[in-house]
Amino acid sequence: MECAGKGRGTRCMGSARRRCGRCGAVAYCSVSHQMSHWNEHKEECERLEQQMKRADVLNDFPFTFSQEATATSQVCEKQGSRCSFLSKRGIHQLGMWMHECCCTHSEESSSSLASFDSSRLLDDGWNLSGDLCPCHDPISPISECVSSWLDYYEWRCIPLHSPVALLLHWPLTIYHAAHIAGVWSSTVETRKLCVHYLGPEKELLQLAAFGELLALFPGVQIHIEFIGPAIPRQRDGEKISLCSYAHCLDADCICNFSSENLSQIANTGFVSSFSNFSKRWNCCLS
Ligand SMILES: [Zn+2]
Ligand SMILES: [Zn+2]
Ligand SMILES: [Zn+2]
Ligand SMILES: [Zn+2]
Ligand SMILES: [Zn+2]
Repeated sequence: MECAGKGRGTRCMGSARRRCGRCGAVAYCSVSHQMSHWNEHKEECERLEQQMKRADVLNDFPFTFSQEATATSQVCEKQGSRCSFLSKRGIHQLGMWMHECCCTHSEESSSSLASFDSSRLLDDGWNLSGDLCPCHDPISPISECVSSWLDYYEWRCIPLHSPVALLLHWPLTIYHAAHIAGVWSSTVETRKLCVHYLGPEKELLQLAAFGELLALFPGVQIHIEFIGPAIPRQRDGEKISLCSYAHCLDADCICNFSSENLSQIANTGFVSSFSNFSKRWNCCLS
């Protein structure tokens, strides 16, 4: 975790090891940063405390990256095998995959967070051929609860060795949370969903993968508010629109004709906004 009091006058002193004793949701490098952040944090501390009480439910999600999805057991164990896992699939250090191994150092990724260009990030593709990634509308609409990677890969007609689960666990976690909260079906009826997404980190650099929400919530206007200290200050309050799936590498695939893609999903919307606790960055699926 990053110090929540970072960038407020004095420099951080080492890593953020002190958690807020009440909510436990934010961390600080020092007592002085904690004190100087309190004025801001006190507005959210109680709400975060309530949400953190439910953290164990959230940690139980099936849509974390698992061997089931990729038929390999070593991916999560050693960083070296993560690199070779990505290399074997030709995606090591490419686009959204860049943040999936430690070859990109944390300072680099935090500076890329600060300077990230959301419109460019939304153009990020899978860097995979069309048969390995979900780059257009599903063949059959999502009907029952998709509750494992196996269900998901089968529904999207993707072979299990495809690495997309690494990045799709972000949108699938939102989908799964909507099921747990019992709002998925009503969301599909009312066609509106508002998500408050706490503590985003590298997924801010993998926003194109959130395009999969178009398939998971068909016809729903989604508003995601990203809230957390990783949101660069200059992005506070920014709104972005995401209106397509991340594309594949096949030049003749439907996903690479953007105008067609746009009209196809014109009735769906996804807006996200962002917030650095007090700062906001919005992004819409539309
Ligand atoms: Zn600090
Ligand atoms: Zn707190
Ligand atoms: Zn690597
Ligand atoms: Zn909202
Ligand atoms: Zn495609």
